[in-house]
Amino acid sequence: MSGRNDKEKGVNVQVLLRCRPFSEEELRNNAPQVVTCNEYQREVAVSQSIAGKHIDRVFTFDKVFGPSAQQRDLYDQAVVPIVNEVLEGFNCTIFAYGQTGTGKTYTMEGECKRSKSGLNGELPPEVGVITRAVKQIFDTLESQNAEYSVKVTFLELYNEEITDLLAPEEISKVALEDRQKKQLPLMEDGKGGVLVRGLEEEIVTSANEIFTLLERGSSKRRTAETLLNKQSSRSHSLFSITIHIKEATPEGEELIKCGKLNLVDLAGSENISRSGAREGRAREAGEINKSLLTLGRVINALVEHLVHIPYRDSKLTRLLRDSLGGRTKTCIIATVSPAVHCLEETLSTLDYAHRAKNIKNKPEAVTNLKRKMMASSALYISHVEAVQNVVRLHNASSNAGLEEISASISSNAHSLEQFLAAEAIEANSVFDDLQGTLSSHQGEMAQFARELRQRFNVSIEHLKNITDFTSGVVCELTEESRKLKNHAAQIDEIQTISIADFRKAYEEQSNSDAEKLIADVTNLVSDHIRRQKELVDARLSGLKETVIGNKTFLDGHVSSMEGITTDAKRKWQEFSMQAENDSRDSADFSAAKHCRMELLLQQCVNTAETASKHWKKTHECINEMGSQHVSTMVSLVRNVLDSNEQHDIEIGSVRATTEEDVTKNSEDIFRHFDRVSEQECGSISGILAAVKAHTTTLDVLQEDHSVQLASIEQKAVDSLQQKFTVCYLASYSSSLQEVLITSGMDYEPTGTTPIRIEPDIPSKVTIESLRAMPMEALAEEFRENHSYESFEVKEPKPSLIPRSPLTQLN
Ligand code: ADP
Ligand code: MG
Repeated sequence: MSGRNDKEKGVNVQVLLRCRPFSEEELRNNAPQVVTCNEYQREVAVSQSIAGKHIDRVFTFDKVFGPSAQQRDLYDQAVVPIVNEVLEGFNCTIFAYGQTGTGKTYTMEGECKRSKSGLNGELPPEVGVITRAVKQIFDTLESQNAEYSVKVTFLELYNEEITDLLAPEEISKVALEDRQKKQLPLMEDGKGGVLVRGLEEEIVTSANEIFTLLERGSSKRRTAETLLNKQSSRSHSLFSITIHIKEATPEGEELIKCGKLNLVDLAGSENISRSGAREGRAREAGEINKSLLTLGRVINALVEHLVHIPYRDSKLTRLLRDSLGGRTKTCIIATVSPAVHCLEETLSTLDYAHRAKNIKNKPEAVTNLKRKMMASSALYISHVEAVQNVVRLHNASSNAGLEEISASISSNAHSLEQFLAAEAIEANSVFDDLQGTLSSHQGEMAQFARELRQRFNVSIEHLKNITDFTSGVVCELTEESRKLKNHAAQIDEIQTISIADFRKAYEEQSNSDAEKLIADVTNLVSDHIRRQKELVDARLSGLKETVIGNKTFLDGHVSSMEGITTDAKRKWQEFSMQAENDSRDSADFSAAKHCRMELLLQQCVNTAETASKHWKKTHECINEMGSQHVSTMVSLVRNVLDSNEQHDIEIGSVRATTEEDVTKNSEDIFRHFDRVSEQECGSISGILAAVKAHTTTLDVLQEDHSVQLASIEQKAVDSLQQKFTVCYLASYSSSLQEVLITSGMDYEPTGTTPIRIEPDIPSKVTIESLRAMPMEALAEEFRENHSYESFEVKEPKPSLIPRSPLTQLN
């Protein structure tokens, strides 16, 4: 009932104020106190004089907890009713807002993190709201005879990035940074709410399980803070616990109540003032806290009833949209310090919190038929969730498969790279070898060419010498032969002349001799023969001398030519020997060089052979690796395909179950509707019957009433005529005269004083009691007796109206 009223009117956000005690340091420093709390009056007073200016302000809140208030006091007075409402199916949110160090975390989490209940089930005094709420929820659920399920989420919002504090992955800097890159995005849930996609939702069955999860989440938060150098005061944490309670009604129906409790430990409010005035400075200092700033703006917009509420400007306000001006019951616990040094922030917190009191929410719990529908939708949602989980599983396994594939590809690529790098080194060394061999070969060749050229030069020199010498010899020989020719020509001329002379002398001699001969034939013949003989002899000896001279000359020349020739021959022999030696040397040299070159070439061939073998091996290795890779890929892909198929089957079965359940549910709802409409028909006919009965009763009543009225009238006339005295009548003169006239009697004065008679008339109270009740009261009475819920004609309740039925009175 209260839900309906709340919905119509809206309820203000409940704002509590908690002032922490002085810290030890503040006590040591004798820090002056500027905040005083009056828990009874629900007031907080701030007073201080600074530089002649006196601050004296008083704020009123829904509840005030002073420094001496214990965790349990705050919980029992402020949070227990909220948790009860959650158990009734409302969504509730508790924010802790305040400057860093004022006790937000102390209030929400408490000091004693290992806060499992002791042997007697009591919690340590220092534990905070979260632990106590979890305990209250489980204590209540366990004491009820109802089926229930509880889910929790725990997230941190830092720098507009969401970290899932319940995600089970390992905590390392790399993993955290990696995780930070993988943002958890917000998604609209289609019902005006927002979901964090990929957020771990733990289903828990006991308070202890939650305590373990909380410990894990908090320790993860602390580790992440250290590893990523986070400033804890700048982060918001949101712990949510969702409860589904299934109850059986006496009619055998199932009721599902769904409540959610959000517990928010906000970032330190000093980061941003409520007006956002420090945005510029904060931004410069890199301190901008978009979520906290937007929270302030949303509150302002709500309080000022602006058309546009900037929920979408930050993740915090998107996540908690329903807690600010929505259907959630919201409570803000503002925390302050009592000390003077926090004065400015304390005033800012008090202003902020006071302002937030004006926000109106319209909380809505689930009613009659709605529950049914919600049960159905919850079932549907849970099935869809199951489908989604299967899909997520599928995704995860596909991703894992693909990641494995990509890991294998990258490892293969890496090994291939390594292998190729090693091969490249090997190939380079082979190439270097080859290059070395070739360059030494080149050197050898150059040297060889140089030496060969040198040798050829020497040979050419020798040949030139030989040619010079030979040409000298030939010149000499030519000279000699020319001389010889001249000489021979001279000799020939001389001999020709001497032969001509001889012939002439012979002819002259012969002629004279012939004559003389004739004369002195006998004497002279002998003389002649003697002289002839002498002449011939003289001539012949002269010729002989000439011939001998010639012969000597020729012999001399011949011998000189022989000498030259011998010399030339010797020289030639020397040359040829030298040339032979040289050519032999050259042959040897070139043979040696050839040998060396052959060796180098052989080396080159060997190197090339090694290289080719190596490449062949490399090729084989790469081929093998490739085929291994391919087979790994094929098996991975087959696995992925198999798992896909499996998931398809699973999704199919989940879908079938969902459809079956939805069909069943719809039928159930239809049956319910049928029943309701049948009931309604029954009720309507009941109402008609009742109306008819009432009409008859009213007719009878009217008839009775008119009879009664007539009889009353009659009685009144009789009484007036018979019993009323004149003076008594005088006071009623006009009406009596009317009555008498009406009743047809004449009024005649008697002249005697009438005797006073006590009339038997109804008292004022009786008359009052005869007055009909106002229409609203009659209608209310009718409703009471003919309740809307059961449309059955009931036994009328005794009327609240303080009168007896007319019939009885009359
Ligand atoms: P916040 O979360 O607002 O920065 P904390 O919760 O960390 O502040 O509180 C700061 C310190 O003050 C802690 O040492 C805590 O124990 C102490 N403290 C805060 N509130 C109270 C309180 N109501 N009673 C006792 N100690 C408190
Ligand atoms: Mg804190």
